[in-house]
Formats: sequence, C-alpha cells, structure tokens
Amino acid sequence: MIIMKSDATREQIDHVVREIEKYGLRADVSMGDFRTVIGLIGDERRIPFDHFSVLPGVKEARMVETPYKLISREYAKLAGEGGDRRTIRVGDIEIGGNEPVFMAGPCAVESKAQLFTIAEGVKKAGAHILRGGIFKPRTSVHSFQGLGAAGEDEAIEALEWMRQAGDHFEMPIVTEIRGEGQVDLVAKYVDIIQIGARNMYDQDLLIKVAQKKKPILYKRHFGAGIEEFLSFAEYMVAEDNKDIILCERGVLPLGKGKSYTRYTLDLAAVPVIQKETYLPVIIDPSHAAGRRDLVFNLSCAGIAVGACGLLVEVHHNPEEALVDSQQQITPAELTDLIATCRRIRKAIGVRKNGG
Ligand code: PEP
Ligand code: MN
Repeated sequence: MIIMKSDATREQIDHVVREIEKYGLRADVSMGDFRTVIGLIGDERRIPFDHFSVLPGVKEARMVETPYKLISREYAKLAGEGGDRRTIRVGDIEIGGNEPVFMAGPCAVESKAQLFTIAEGVKKAGAHILRGGIFKPRTSVHSFQGLGAAGEDEAIEALEWMRQAGDHFEMPIVTEIRGEGQVDLVAKYVDIIQIGARNMYDQDLLIKVAQKKKPILYKRHFGAGIEEFLSFAEYMVAEDNKDIILCERGVLPLGKGKSYTRYTLDLAAVPVIQKETYLPVIIDPSHAAGRRDLVFNLSCAGIAVGACGLLVEVHHNPEEALVDSQQQITPAELTDLIATCRRIRKAIGVRKNGG
C-alpha cells in the first residue's frame, strides 16, 4: 500500500502508478477527501518498498498482508473516505444506508403473469428491489432449470418481463448469472447482477461480471469461511468495481440425522464482515431456513445483527412454485415481515462500527 502526502500532485500519483506497473503489479487508486492511497494488486513481495517510500509525493509505502486489503475498512479509512460503510446507489435506492433494503420476488420466473402478480405484491408489501431467477443453479438435472435454460429467445423474453415488471412497479431488478456465457446478455437488462453461492469461487466469472461495472449481489458459498468469502470478493474490487453487496445465506448444517433447516444461518458473519470491510452485507433467510415458517424469525434476527437488508423469496401461491416451494412466503407475510424489521431497525439503530 502506498500512502501519498495530502498535497501530492496528479503527476506524482501517476508516476507511482507507472512504477508499480513496471514491477508487474496493478494499482487501485483511491482518492479520498484527505489523501490518495494506492493499493497494490498482485504479489507485493516484488515491490521494493524502500524505493517507493522516497518517490516524490509519497508519505509511506508498506506491505499489507491481508488477502482482502482493497475492501478493508483500514484502506478506506486511510484515504479518508470515512471507512464506515459504502452506500451503493441503485436508482433511488441506497443499499448500506440507514434504512434496511428489502429485495423480494420469486425463486424462479415462471411466466409473465406469475412475475407481475408477485412484483405487484412485493411492491405493496414495501419491497425496494425485485428478484427473480432465470438461470437457476439446480442440484438435479431433472428439475426445472429456469426459463433461461430453454434457449436464448426464452432467456431474452424472461429478462424483458423482469425489466418491464421492474419499470412498471418502480423497482430495480436483480437476477443470477450462472456462467460466463450469460454475462453480456444479462448485464444489458438488470440493475444488479447476482452471483450465486455455488459460483462464489469462480474467479473468471467474478472478473467478467465485475467488468460490467454494475452493482453485484455476491452470495457466500455454504462451505466457505469468512476470509475466503472476502478474499474472493476482492477479485471484483480489483477490477475497479467496489459496488459489491455481500450476502450471507447459510452454511452447511452440522451433524448426522435429520436436518431441521436447509442451511445454518451464520448470523455472526454480519457484524464480523461489517467490521472487516466497508461493503454492505445482507441476509437471505429463505435459502438459509429452507422452510417458510422460519423466514420471519431469521429475517428479524438478521436485521437485529445489523444486516443492511434482506433477500426474501416470495410467491403468490408458494405450494405451486416450480422451485423452492417449501420456503417461499406470500406477499401478505412479507408485509408483516418488512414492517416488523423496520421497527427492529428503528429500535436498534445503525452502529457505525459494523453493527
Ligand atoms: C438464489 O438466490 O436464487 C439462490 C439459488 O441462492 P443460493 O445461490 O444462495 O443457493
Ligand atoms: Mn431459491
């Protein structure tokens, strides 16, 4: 990391960047209110820090060992960007601000009528952002794979329904990209690109999605430690895209015998991650629980531990849903959930230091 003097000139900053590139690394230039900090992307052991510390305009040059330095609070603080939380603006919505943001919609888009019915319901319930899966990651090849699996025309049609529903009900939209081949198409339609839990480790996908320069909803893999999750998030930030919303959606349950929940919601991950980084964190109670009777409780708990928002699966007729029918709640249930979560946030407030 290279910390520039507060009066460093543009030329001096550019010179340091060129020097970094000479050693085969890339630079992330963070211009804060007080000073510029330059993060190094690549193997820092190749950098002669003594040489860098005497370059014109440089205040300090030092090695940073953490694998996720560009998203660390320390990095943002040094640049004088406050180091609190990044707020990601999507249309009129602010993710990471004082109010919790609710993303809701069906697990999978099934038809235009289904999507519009649910979009209307979640909007009325108070949701801000519409979700809907078109390319579904499924464990079994024999189950419904989402409308996108039927072919490009079907994928485009479903993406157009999402766009129309989002515009009609004034909600930005989010959908998942499952593979690199879908990135260019999906990025044309959506406001936020989702990277699902199963793809958390796909470096090439992360880089390609990040290069679209759109906000990304990035889900933790169910077997990933927090350090791994943050380290892989760093791949996207290294592509100069800091609009990453991290999502905790449950880790694998422990022990033998019947599992009472689909996954185990790692609630502590929320304040832990928010202390480590400035990126906003949300909770997905639906996939964590895997059963609709727990979604309300887990949502309340998520907001209570400081999540910036929730991603909730909602269906007007959950029993009939083609995917994840056991965990989707109704728009009426979402109304109660959102109202209660808002009361909880009001009672607790937003803790600036990651709470
Ligand atoms: C989803 O949100 O549609 C989804 C498949 O979730 P996850 O990637 O967390 O399993
Ligand atoms: Mn689902």
